[in-house]
Amino acid sequence: MLEIVDVSRRFGDYQALNCVSLHVEAGEFFTLLGPSGCGKTTLLRSIAGFEQPDSGDILLDGRSLLSLPPEQRPVHTVFQSYALFPHMTVADNIAFPLRMAGCNETEIRQRVAEVLEDVRLPDAGSRFPDALSGGQRQRIAIARALVNRPRLLLLDEPLSALDAKLREQMQIELINLQKEVGITFVYVTHDQGEALALSHRIAVMEHGEISQVDEPSVLYSCPDNRFVADFIGQCNLLDGKVIEQDGERVRIALAGLGEMTVPTNEEIDFLPGDACALTLRPEKTRLARELQCGDDEFHVRGEVHDMLYLGDVTVYIIEADGVRIEALLANSAPGRTRLFEPGDTVELCWRYDAGHLVR
Ligand code: ATP
Repeated sequence: MLEIVDVSRRFGDYQALNCVSLHVEAGEFFTLLGPSGCGKTTLLRSIAGFEQPDSGDILLDGRSLLSLPPEQRPVHTVFQSYALFPHMTVADNIAFPLRMAGCNETEIRQRVAEVLEDVRLPDAGSRFPDALSGGQRQRIAIARALVNRPRLLLLDEPLSALDAKLREQMQIELINLQKEVGITFVYVTHDQGEALALSHRIAVMEHGEISQVDEPSVLYSCPDNRFVADFIGQCNLLDGKVIEQDGERVRIALAGLGEMTVPTNEEIDFLPGDACALTLRPEKTRLARELQCGDDEFHVRGEVHDMLYLGDVTVYIIEADGVRIEALLANSAPGRTRLFEPGDTVELCWRYDAGHLVR
């Protein structure tokens, strides 16, 4: 439905977007994720029409949007700052775009009531924005953006001004709302947890380019490169060298740790001597004072260097032959809050296919 084709944008010497191509399907919850300055807002503003690309094209339903001013694009944007008119009631705020479009008052009343239902604030119409909480104000901003049924809703970090608990609640509501209204959402965030929780697909951006586009579970378990592995969740990046590739298996030497055989990465042809990294999620490891390891597991002995108690889990940093590996233990067993202390000798292992090999 939405196609971004080779879009570039430069500000002075800075290449904010470099030949970005993407497609978004109708009804999709699609997220642009990346660190500050990677270009995601510039891309969103280009779709909205607030920014004009230097080259490339942006098509909606096969028609280029570039010649249309923002107000003529069937697209609405919800900003972090809500942008509600403080002197107007909630109903008037929501009705504003409909009045601008010349709708009659009966239709306006009906559509305002419908979107207030959609955002679960059916009785808020006569209130003023100041009398609402941050979460409620953001819901009204979303209601106003939805009221004239855009083809595409663009959301620029809409939850970042809310506290953690309210944000989680709003995330669930956003997922349900998007399902109910069926409108395509393009969502910008730098919060990887939020992106994983909300999206059907995520485009991870780095320095104005797309690093990987995939479903959340694929991004998490099979990152294409070190940047994505490191940016999405916690991840050990174990440096190594390729010894040989044999069909679907690659023999690698991990710096400081020794040799192991891992499944190949079908996207990459590895040659003997190539530098590589094994991306290993902390929760894919087993950690104990002593471990019985199977033939299909890689075994390491080390020392607890640091620990971080997080309530539901404890993160342990294990040092083995100069390499630091993060491991995770759930604190679900009764009485188990501090199993190991810094300085304890421990054993760590993971299955041959627990990690994912990248360059
Ligand atoms: P953030 O999460 O911090 O908003 P972002 O990924 O959305 O970051 P953009 O806002 O798209 O990043 O900005 C990308 C780069 O382009 C940044 O280095 C920014 O300083 C620069 N930039 C954006 N807009 C302009 C502008 N109008 N003039 C000059 N530089 C700009």
